[in-house]
Order: sequence, then C-alpha cells, then structure tokens
Amino acid sequence: MIFTRKFLSQALLEGIAPLTCLTCAEPVPFEAHVAGVCSFCVMNWGIFESDKTSITLFRERFYAEWIAGGFRLRDSGTRAIIHRCKYGGDPKCIKVLGRWMGHRWPPPPSGSVLTPIPIHWKRRLQRGYNQAEIFAAGMAEVWGVEVDGGALIRVKHGKSLTGSSRQGRGEALKQTYGFDHKVKSDPRLVILVDDVLTTGATLRACRDILEKQGRKVVGAVVLAMA
Ligand SMILES: [Zn+2]
Repeated sequence: MIFTRKFLSQALLEGIAPLTCLTCAEPVPFEAHVAGVCSFCVMNWGIFESDKTSITLFRERFYAEWIAGGFRLRDSGTRAIIHRCKYGGDPKCIKVLGRWMGHRWPPPPSGSVLTPIPIHWKRRLQRGYNQAEIFAAGMAEVWGVEVDGGALIRVKHGKSLTGSSRQGRGEALKQTYGFDHKVKSDPRLVILVDDVLTTGATLRACRDILEKQGRKVVGAVVLAMA
C-alpha cells in the first residue's frame, strides 16, 4: 500500500481504515468508502442529488426555503448506518457523514446557523452524544458555518407517540420540545438539523417553538428520509 499524503490526511480524518465494507463485508480500498461503506454499497443508498426533485420531495414533508437531504432510509444497509450513528456508540461515523453531506450540498444562506434537534439530557448522558449535533458539526466544518443549539431544548424523555393521529402527534411533539428562556435572543437564521426525517412533525414542532420566540427558521437538513 502506498502512503500518499491524501491517504494520510484521510486517515487522520477518519481514524482507522476499514478493512472490509460494513454493509457487504467485501474488502474496500481505503479511499473508496463513506463511513466504512464501500462505494458499491453507497450507490445503493438512494442518495438525493442536490437538485429540484429532491427539494420538492423533501418539501412535501417539511416546507422550507432551504433544504438538504442525504439518502433514503429504505433497506437494511441504510438502516444499519443510522443505527450505528444513533446507538452504535460511533459518533465518528456520523461526523464523516456530515462532511459527506457538506460536500454534496451547497452551504445554507449566509447569516444562518445549524441548530440540531435536541435529545433529552438523560439520553445524552446514556449515549454520550447527540447524533444530530455531531452530524451538524461535520457539515459546519465544510460549509464554514456555526453549530448552535440555541434555546431549543428537549423537555420530555422517552419515545414520541408514533401510533397516534397526525394531529395528536404534532401536539405531543410540541410538548416534547421547549424553549430555554435564559438564552438571549439571536438574529441569526436557523437551519434545523436532524438524522432522520419521517413525517416532518418534529421539524415543524421545533420550528413553531423557535418562531414563537422570534427566531426565523429558514431551512432544514437531514441525513436520511424514511
Ligand atoms: Zn459494500
């Protein structure tokens, strides 16, 4: 193996080289992978191009001026990626995916800040990190923007109600998240960041909370769309 400069900088960025693809278990050349998944398997992710089609699709669930999305959550391969980021104790993986997103999509409008959807402090303590925050940090590196959770907090612990009606779920979510009144007002535009987009109810609930407090939410970015 030739240790080129690119190889070394890549190694510094991503830690240990994966010997085999995390999805198909085939050997992978070091540079031909995204977060440990070989380029062939990455092709099966159902990646969103940064174009009008993706934006339209995304807007059906969450209408915002500026949007960005990674891939479709559609099979065991993509589900395993999300699982690894969330529960696998692998924050490095989601940081790499954040950088990957940052290179695929143009940066958000100037004057905006990335605001990750918060997790409850108990969960944070248990997991050690908030996956949305680390995902945001990866993109922030590439785009040269800041990550700031601002005043958005998660007040309720535990699973959100997935079985209830759309309206009921929306209401429950509004009580799940809250606003920390101790945080000073901030004129920066908000781009919400989450790992998975399902119905868009979480993003809507958080936007409502922030906008009631005078913040302006202009966009959202998610890693995967269910
Ligand atoms: Zn593979």
